[in-house]
Amino acid sequence: MRMIGLIGGMSWESSAEYYRLLNRGVRARRGPTASARCLLWSFDFAEIEALQHEGDWDGLTARMVDAARRLETAGADALLICTNTMHRMAPAVEGAVAVPLLHIADPTAEHIRAAGLRRVGLLGTAFTMEQDFYKGRLTERHGLEVMVPDATDRATVHRIIYDELVAGTIRPESRAACRGVIARLADRGAEAIILGCTEIMLLVGPQDSAVPLFDTTALHAQAAVDFALTG
Ligand code: GLU
Repeated sequence: MRMIGLIGGMSWESSAEYYRLLNRGVRARRGPTASARCLLWSFDFAEIEALQHEGDWDGLTARMVDAARRLETAGADALLICTNTMHRMAPAVEGAVAVPLLHIADPTAEHIRAAGLRRVGLLGTAFTMEQDFYKGRLTERHGLEVMVPDATDRATVHRIIYDELVAGTIRPESRAACRGVIARLADRGAEAIILGCTEIMLLVGPQDSAVPLFDTTALHAQAAVDFALTG
């Protein structure tokens, strides 16, 4: 089995899910006592979040590249960045190591296309919804049409992620707010919703949406299991 290197702690709430999903996936395919071979580099998210909001992307890139090199040196055969937002640094990480980076947007887009869908709504941090590093990959590489919530709804989703989900707080009123954001995207024509933040599935599920949801955490972890068990 190949070794998966996880760049995580962003937040640990979602890294814990990745760990569970990787191990469950390997168990399902290899038997009850089988588990994933993996390495986890776990950041202090308080430091990461401060740098994100200061816009210190150079400082963040340096930390991501350092983590990637350490995981490669420790024996990782492939890397996962366990957050959508930090895929802004994916090109720098890819350039710093010889092992492949399994990009979170790729399995997500492939599942959407396989379902025959093209026009998607994107929920995530403001960085993910507003900058081009993520939407651009979905449109240019995978031919998706990506819609984002309006400014008020983007601010709501961003606040829920940073004030609540990364801190392990699940509030029914925030679930209702996200349900509204999803409904407005569907009303505007979204055929599916990308849960483009690795903690959002802790808050919303299929019962909160009239259109299919694509959970990036689950699809990314599944792609890692496929990689680990082949080759
Ligand atoms: N885990 C989240 C994401 O998928 C947000 C935390 C972060 O900014 O990395 O984007």
